[in-house]
Amino acid sequence: MGLEYYARIRTNYGPAYARLTDMRCEILSGAPWDGAALVVAEGEAAGLELLAPCEPHKIICVGVNYHDHAQELGHSIPASPLLFLKPPTSVIGPGEAIVYPPYWTQRVDYEAELAVVIGWRARRVKPEAAGEVIFGYTCLNDVTARDVQRQDGQWTRAKSFDTFCPLGPVIARGVDPSALRIECRLNGQVRQSSSTARMIFGVRELVSFASHVMTLEPGDVLATGTPAGVGPMQPGDVVEVEIEGIGCLRNSVVAGV
Ligand code: ZN
Repeated sequence: MGLEYYARIRTNYGPAYARLTDMRCEILSGAPWDGAALVVAEGEAAGLELLAPCEPHKIICVGVNYHDHAQELGHSIPASPLLFLKPPTSVIGPGEAIVYPPYWTQRVDYEAELAVVIGWRARRVKPEAAGEVIFGYTCLNDVTARDVQRQDGQWTRAKSFDTFCPLGPVIARGVDPSALRIECRLNGQVRQSSSTARMIFGVRELVSFASHVMTLEPGDVLATGTPAGVGPMQPGDVVEVEIEGIGCLRNSVVAGV
């Protein structure tokens, strides 16, 4: 399978899924993982407004899943993946603003992550079959109110503010996730730089593990953890998550009111 890129875009008729080629955009009648989706229109790829590339029912995340990040934190290597959830209401698209909450937190961090987009319903899938339920990959910024996370001892409030899940810019299909360069830049300066080869639990293992807890549904997202170098953002900052073969997810930070 060659590389393919999918997005959700704004059209005059509302949001639509689309397949992007070099210069062209094919607008689809439904989600690309729905086998019945047809090409209903074509246009130029230039000037499109990209939205978050899917509408997940749930966003499953993994804590401490890079060797370099575990080392940085002084954590031992976890025996099994540490799962937590972000709500669908936290999702924003490329170019949208991350809103710094006006209360409770003085420390809002970026976390660059490779995200898996599920294409087929999956329950108790074996690691060796997990590739078959994956549609593709995108970039995710697991924005975290770090002080709230420490204060609560569990992570729901810290990870769940509206706008705390930038996602995109596109879904890359056919990309091999085993050794991709992953980088986070804050105002153009590199803050995280690693390879997905440094994950503790690999993509297939994580999809299998999560599917033994909850049924994965088409459009669901599984974020695979962040490498070393997490740190704070301030209103006015621009944060970029770039992953080789996928693209660059860029968002600004604004002060909430
Ligand atoms: Zn994370």
